[in-house]
Amino acid sequence: MAPAHPAGGSVCRECGAAYKATDLAQEFCRPACRIAWNNRARLRGAKLYEAVMTWRVLRQPGALAVVTALVSTFLDEDRAAGRRWRPRTFNPKTGRRERRK
Ligand SMILES: [Zn+2]
Repeated sequence: MAPAHPAGGSVCRECGAAYKATDLAQEFCRPACRIAWNNRARLRGAKLYEAVMTWRVLRQPGALAVVTALVSTFLDEDRAAGRRWRPRTFNPKTGRRERRK
């Protein structure tokens, strides 16, 4: 859910710029921001995949701490870059992300 901008627009998930969304599912001000966000999510997802599988399959002591440390690193990176993570809303019936009213 993108926070509402005082001018009635939205705030880009990637760069934080205010923009006027053309539909409810739009979360980024421009294609470059969407691509950058998705590329980072894929890289982070690959790291988390290995950490989560190690935790679940090998059941090594301390493996869950690796997962939470990774997420903390991601949040620190986002703060340093001026990004604030917020949840997506996904509607499986439409296959689209929608904003809560
Ligand atoms: Zn942007």
